[in-house]
Amino acid sequence: MNPALTRCDVAIVGAGIIGSACAEACAAGGLNTVLIDSDFPGGGITACGMGHIVVMDDSAAQWALTARSRELWMRRAASLPDDIEYDACGTLWIAANRAEMDAVEEKVAMYRQHDVHAQILNSAELARAEPDLISRLSGALLVRDDAVIYPPAAAQHFAANAATLGAVMRFGQRVQVIEPGRIYFVDGTMLDAERIVVAAGLASNDLLPNLPLRARKGHLVISDRYPGRVRHQLVELGYLHSAHASDADSVAFNVQPRRNGQILIGSSRQFDATDTAIDAPLLAHMLERAVGFLPFLRDVQVLRSWTGLRPATRDGLPLIGPSAQHASIWLATGHEGLGITTATATAELIAAQLLGRTCAIPPAPYWPTRFASETTHAVA
Ligand SMILES: Cc1cc2nc3c(=O)[nH]c(=O)nc-3n(C[C@H](O)[C@H](O)[C@H](O)COP(=O)(O)OP(=O)(O)OC[C@H]3O[C@@H](n4cnc5c(N)ncnc54)[C@H](O)[C@@H]3O)c2cc1C
Repeated sequence: MNPALTRCDVAIVGAGIIGSACAEACAAGGLNTVLIDSDFPGGGITACGMGHIVVMDDSAAQWALTARSRELWMRRAASLPDDIEYDACGTLWIAANRAEMDAVEEKVAMYRQHDVHAQILNSAELARAEPDLISRLSGALLVRDDAVIYPPAAAQHFAANAATLGAVMRFGQRVQVIEPGRIYFVDGTMLDAERIVVAAGLASNDLLPNLPLRARKGHLVISDRYPGRVRHQLVELGYLHSAHASDADSVAFNVQPRRNGQILIGSSRQFDATDTAIDAPLLAHMLERAVGFLPFLRDVQVLRSWTGLRPATRDGLPLIGPSAQHASIWLATGHEGLGITTATATAELIAAQLLGRTCAIPPAPYWPTRFASETTHAVA
C-alpha cells in the first residue's frame, strides 16, 4: 500500500499495545488499514505497564475478555519473538489468612468450571514454591498459565506484523482533530477513513469530547538482578479489593520476576492524579507492603521507579466498539490495568465487528454506548 495514501477502510489512532494489535487484526482481515501515532509504537502507557497476562474474575464480562485474551496469547506464545520475553510463570494469589483461604476455595471452583487450570497450595506448598515469602501465610491459588511479557516489544511486534500484512504506518504524526470520515493531522495533512478507531489511551479524551475515561495512576519499581528469588507473579488476594473496589488511594503486594532476574515491584492506584510525579510517601508505603511479604526486598538494589496513568472507566470494563458520538468513529481504550492482557481479544473484537463477523465472545458489555447518556455530544 502507498504510504502517501489519503483514503483507507480503517484508520487507527494510537499505536500502543491496543492500537497496534487492532491494526494487525484489521490488516489480517483484509481491511485497508492505517496505523497512526504521534510518537512510536509502544511508547505510551504500554511502556509503563507491568506486563502481567492474567485472568481476572471481577465480573462475567471481565472474565470473558481476560480469559479469551489469555487464550489468544497462549496460542501464539511459541511464535512470539524472544524480545517479548513471554514467560508462562503463572500467578500465585496469596492468602494471608483463613478468610482469604476461603476466597481461594471459592475461586478455584469457578476457574475450574471455566476450564482454566487452577490449584490450591497450602502453607507448606506455598513455602516450597516461593521460599523467600514470609512463613505465616495460609496458602495460595496457583493459576498456572498466566504469563509475563515485555509490553513495548509486543506493541512493536503487532505493528510490524500489521505492516507486513499491508497496513500503512504513520508514526511521528499527531492527530489534531477527527470527524466522521476524516482525520486532520497537526502537520496540515488529512486522511479519509471509512472507520476511525480511537486507541489513543487516556489522550483519547483530547480527540473526542465527554468520554467516560479517567486517569488511575500507578507506581512501579524495578530492582537489579536476583535470578531465581521470585518464580511466579506474586499478588496478594487483598489486591482484588484495592484494585477494583474503591476510589481511595491504595497499594498492594504485586511482584513480578523478569526473565533476566530483575524484580518488578508494584502496585499502587490513585484516581484522577493527573501528574506523573512520584508520590514518595505512597511509593514508600507500596515498598513496605512488598517487604511485609518478601523481606529480602528490603535489601535489593533499586534501579528505577516510575509512574503511569491507566485509562480507566467507571465500571472497570474497556470501551470497545462504535462510539456514542458517531457510528463511524470507534473506540478501543479504557483498559485500565488490564490493557496488556486484553490487547489480543480487544483486537479480535474490533476486527470481527468491523468485518461483520461473529465475535468469539459477546461484544455488547464493552460497547461504549453503555455510557451513552454521558456521551451524546455529537462530533461535527
Ligand atoms: C503501573 C502500571 C502497571 C500496569 N500493569 C499491567 C499489567 O500487569 N497487565 C496488564 O494487562 N496491564 C497493565 N497495565 C495497563 C496497561 O499498561 C494499559 O492498559 C495499556 O498499556 C493501554 O494501552 P493503550 O494502547 O490503550 O495506550 P497507550 O500505550 O498509551 O497508547 C496510546 C498511543 O496513542 C498515541 N497518541 C495519543 N494521542 C495521539 C494523537 N493525538 N495523535 C497520534 N497518536 C496519539 C500515543 O503516542 C500512544 O502511543 C498497567 C498500567 C500501569 C500504569
